[in-house]
Amino acid sequence: MGRAFVYVILGGGVAAGYAALEFTKRGVRRGELCIISEEPLAPYERPALSKGFLLPEAPARIPSFHTCVGINEERLTPKWYKEHGIELVLGTRVKSADVRRKTLLTAAGETISYKILIIATGARSLKLEEFGVKGSDAENVCYLRDLADANTLVDLMQSCSGGNAVVIGGGYIGMECAASLVINKLNVTMVFPEAHCMARLFTPKIATYYEEYYKSKGVKFIKGTVLSSFDFDSNGKVTAVNLKDGSQLPADMVVVGIGIRPNTSLFEGQLTLEKGGIKVNGRLQSSNSSVYAVGDVAAFPVKLFGETRRLEHVDSARKSARHAVAAIMEPNKMDEFDYLPFFYSRVFTFSWQFFGDNVGEVVHYGDFSGSTFGAYWVSKGHLVGSFLEGGTKEEYEAIAKATRMKPAIEDLAELERQGLVFALSVSKKPAPSPPPPSDSRGSTLVVEKPIYAWHATAGVVLAASIAAFAYWYGRRRRRW
Ligand SMILES: Cc1cc2nc3c(=O)[nH]c(=O)nc-3n(C[C@H](O)[C@H](O)[C@H](O)COP(=O)(O)OP(=O)(O)OC[C@H]3O[C@@H](n4cnc5c(N)ncnc54)[C@H](O)[C@@H]3O)c2cc1C
Repeated sequence: MGRAFVYVILGGGVAAGYAALEFTKRGVRRGELCIISEEPLAPYERPALSKGFLLPEAPARIPSFHTCVGINEERLTPKWYKEHGIELVLGTRVKSADVRRKTLLTAAGETISYKILIIATGARSLKLEEFGVKGSDAENVCYLRDLADANTLVDLMQSCSGGNAVVIGGGYIGMECAASLVINKLNVTMVFPEAHCMARLFTPKIATYYEEYYKSKGVKFIKGTVLSSFDFDSNGKVTAVNLKDGSQLPADMVVVGIGIRPNTSLFEGQLTLEKGGIKVNGRLQSSNSSVYAVGDVAAFPVKLFGETRRLEHVDSARKSARHAVAAIMEPNKMDEFDYLPFFYSRVFTFSWQFFGDNVGEVVHYGDFSGSTFGAYWVSKGHLVGSFLEGGTKEEYEAIAKATRMKPAIEDLAELERQGLVFALSVSKKPAPSPPPPSDSRGSTLVVEKPIYAWHATAGVVLAASIAAFAYWYGRRRRRW
């Protein structure tokens, strides 16, 4: 038994939804495209699961966050797929793939063949058992990767309200869940081995800002140690968390966010892998020319930094998916994918964005006792990364553009003094054309000290008008 399609997307997450939209924009015909997903619903905006979905009042629920609502595009409901003649094969796990024969075998025993395959299998949560700790299947221990996990988490939060929650892991899942647990009236303790939260991105100074706020909301931090075991009651429910440092925490529920692993196993031995993902070129094409990979599972060349990276962020999933489809449908028109890494998070009333790379020397700027501050990363004399908390749309756009331009930085103290004004003024310069070469240390724009004074004045005027606009416009908060 089998079916055949011209294009098959394997995986039904963020990247699949954005790829589907792009296929329709580029003229895919009815019956040509199929999406196979082990999840029982059409693609949705996964980041909503740790944000709007966990709110105690008016929580976000499907269908409100189907893709591609995350970029204010059309919301792709099951009806939309039907209207466009796209086959959704849901609740169906693919258990093996044969890239030589161009076939996929589902767990139900159906063979689905393709001319072009897009792998969009994303990643799975790392389990405690992979670190030698038992208890993942206890009914009050949860992870957060898909809608089923999010439903479990909501049920647990409701049944444990007023009780003790332990969050294992200090990354973005841990931080976003801890905030939601507090909002849902649980007593929260976070446990992680690093010296501060969000250790892969935050500097100690940035981390301290958020940790202090969390502490003011009652969150306790236990750092520099890890979970060693659970205590269970006679029903197999976790009652306490034992840490390697010998301490014990009472627990009514546990949330685990200790990282993810890309879902590559179907293709190991068939496609070239790198950095834990499926290696692709600037067209998102794998070592087999009929197979593309996008989203969390893809390791692609980041031209700006001259190296292959695998990113675990929603913006990269959206853009890599759209680029792959464009490269498939209009191969002669497409340039290589030229992506500026972008990551964001929203917790409590905070909202931050990060662009580029967090390597080299760090310069902090802004008011760390207030609500708008940030940091720049400078490597080999050039700006390579920018972080901003509490910015306006225009300010985020400015730091993104400035980061992409990689301006030369000669004086770190001056950059610190300029702060956000630096990005606002640099970003007013015309974008370089063509973009800087991938291995470029050199920048297209050298901002030296004498120019700063003028930029500073212009920047202050600009910042003031932006602030006035922002005040008038109010801060619109999105839930995914
Ligand atoms: C709770 C949460 C919050 C997040 N918040 C943010 C955020 O604030 N900012 C940010 O930048 N990023 C965030 N992310 C990361 C972002 O959601 C991911 O980068 C993005 O979802 C990756 O998209 P993807 O399509 O590659 O993978 P996914 O969205 O994970 O989709 C993969 C799909 O493939 C399916 N699949 C896998 N294997 C098979 C198989 N063998 N057969 C059939 N189907 C299969 C999976 O079930 C899933 O549906 C968050 C992630 C989570 C889990």
